[in-house]
Amino acid sequence: LVELRGVVKRFGEFTALDGIDLALDRGEVVVILGPSGSGKSTLCRCVNRMEAVDAGEILVDGVPQPLEGRPLHRFRAEVGMVFQSFNLFAHKSVLDNVTLAPRRVRGVARREAEERARALLDQVGMGHRADAYPAQLSGGQSQRAAIARALAMDPKILLFDEPTSALDPEMTREVLATMRQLAQAGTTMLVVTHEMSFARDCADRVVFMDGGRIVETAEPEAFFTAPKTDRAREFLSSVR
Ligand code: ATP
Ligand code: MG
Repeated sequence: LVELRGVVKRFGEFTALDGIDLALDRGEVVVILGPSGSGKSTLCRCVNRMEAVDAGEILVDGVPQPLEGRPLHRFRAEVGMVFQSFNLFAHKSVLDNVTLAPRRVRGVARREAEERARALLDQVGMGHRADAYPAQLSGGQSQRAAIARALAMDPKILLFDEPTSALDPEMTREVLATMRQLAQAGTTMLVVTHEMSFARDCADRVVFMDGGRIVETAEPEAFFTAPKTDRAREFLSSVR
């Protein structure tokens, strides 16, 4: 469904991504693990093209994606992203946050967009907060609203960059429960997280990054019980 081939990203002299090859099949859940600074966020930002790549290509359904202009905007609309810090529009209600992109980008009529938004908010357990403003929500509620907003564009793939790392344990549990549901429903997901329980239970594959490279790719069971590389072993002993 989505494939990265030889993706390189540099910041000046510094190479943040050093030749990333990664392919996700439809419905696959891939969890990215790795130490701080290994390039996980940069990878997410390159997939949704918030960051231009210096070499390599990104393909969707086997088609290389254009780097600029309208086609780039169309591509971006098909990638949903949920960040660590909640990126809801503060001056808009939850419902408006969820309907904004479908209405503006896709030209969906207000009534239709709102109907769908309410269904999505129900799905993430936020139906009762549709009229609230972001400042009135808990962190977990904000993240679930952000997930509903990403889903509203029917993305081909959902990217998560440490969606729970700013949350307390209870809110983390709520958000992970929503993510588990999505995973079970067959959503294609690329997830950066330090929640090993999510990686163990929900990942089809774990990708371990270090120094801008993919060092190890494995099924979660194999990765957690018998990592192949010293770097992965070190990393696992530091997070357990
Ligand atoms: P963390 O677990 O701390 O979130 P990460 O794996 O997400 O780390 P990235 O944020 O992708 O790491 O950063 C990878 C490297 O690229 C880091 O060394 C970082 O300093 C560098 N980097 C990221 N963004 C920029 C930028 N805009 N300009 C310069 N360097 C950057
Ligand atoms: Mg990061």
